[in-house]
Amino acid sequence: MNVNELIEELRNSGIHQESVLQAIQDIPRELFIEKELEDLAYENRALPIESQQTISQPYIVALMTQTLNLKGTEKILEIGTGSGYQTAILSKLCRTVVTIERIPQLLSTAKNNLESLRFSNIIYVSGDGTLGYEKEAPYDGIIVTAATPTVPDSFLSQLKENGRLVIPVGTRKNQSLELWIKRDGEFRVTELCPCRFVPLIGQQGWNDLNQDV
Ligand code: SAM
Repeated sequence: MNVNELIEELRNSGIHQESVLQAIQDIPRELFIEKELEDLAYENRALPIESQQTISQPYIVALMTQTLNLKGTEKILEIGTGSGYQTAILSKLCRTVVTIERIPQLLSTAKNNLESLRFSNIIYVSGDGTLGYEKEAPYDGIIVTAATPTVPDSFLSQLKENGRLVIPVGTRKNQSLELWIKRDGEFRVTELCPCRFVPLIGQQGWNDLNQDV
């Protein structure tokens, strides 16, 4: 599949925000994956990256971004930088991205790639994203690209009024992608679709050694 075919497939799957489709058209996904997998860059599937992690499926990246409903003025917190591909999409569509990754080597590779594409509105944080990032809070949106058994309190408290949290919640094997919207300090939750992410590991996520459910 090439990028135009991928865009067509995303449109047919319900991705309708032109700004999101344009960002996917513009950002070279091949830059964020290993050379040997370059031919698969525009397949609509997740692919392995270093440290046994994954670059998310383009449909999921597009859906999560579309769900944030970005206008260009937002400060967004991303938990799980991974390859940096989702970060690049967000960087094009909002004012500031704060991205947190627990594996330093991944953060370093992602930062190099993003800087080579001249993205300059990204704050890189190394550490446990289950605690959010109080220093830059509050956020207009929080996007979590790893799965958690429950929603960490830090994400709820660091979200602005009318802010949006997009997060996969469930077991280690199966999750539901959820949208949480904060209104008058309360949360309205909508289930978007079933999904399967790598685990969010940290104080308010999974224990690294815990292989249950
Ligand atoms: N959005 C990424 C992309 O486009 O490449 C994919 C991210 S990958 C599915 C999930 C990432 O979350 C992994 O890189 C993993 O190391 C990271 N992660 C897991 N637990 C974390 C935590 N507590 N804090 C920060 N990052 C975490």
